[in-house]
Amino acid sequence: MELGDEFDDEPMSTRYMIERQRKLGESLRPIDQLRAVVLGAALSDRLNEMSDRQIGQLLFDFCWPELYVDGPELIIVTQAIDRLRRSTGGVITNEEAQESLKQQPVCPKCGNEIFLHYGIDEPDFWLCDRVACRHKRYVGEL
Ligand SMILES: [Zn+2]
Repeated sequence: MELGDEFDDEPMSTRYMIERQRKLGESLRPIDQLRAVVLGAALSDRLNEMSDRQIGQLLFDFCWPELYVDGPELIIVTQAIDRLRRSTGGVITNEEAQESLKQQPVCPKCGNEIFLHYGIDEPDFWLCDRVACRHKRYVGEL
């Protein structure tokens, strides 16, 4: 595969886009790293337009084979694929993408972004993204 032809007018297939993004990301040349970022954003936009079932298919095709046999990651991803296959969810609209950005609250301690985590064995919580802070607040707590 030739590096450097991703800005042609010919529309790229999603599979080709993923393979190229992977190749560019592995390259040590700064220009390829930059292309990987641009192509990654385009890939993200394209995935927004796909159904949950199509995302499940891409997980199976591209992520599942990368995981260790019998590792917990493989078990979790297999579970996610099975669930996405039964999902009827469709595209992520621009409104939804922007809405989730707008609702992104900031950490009351350091002002950094905080992300919602769905609690596993505990209630849902917000967690500050900054490693030095890691401020944690349970949903519904003031
Ligand atoms: Zn913080």
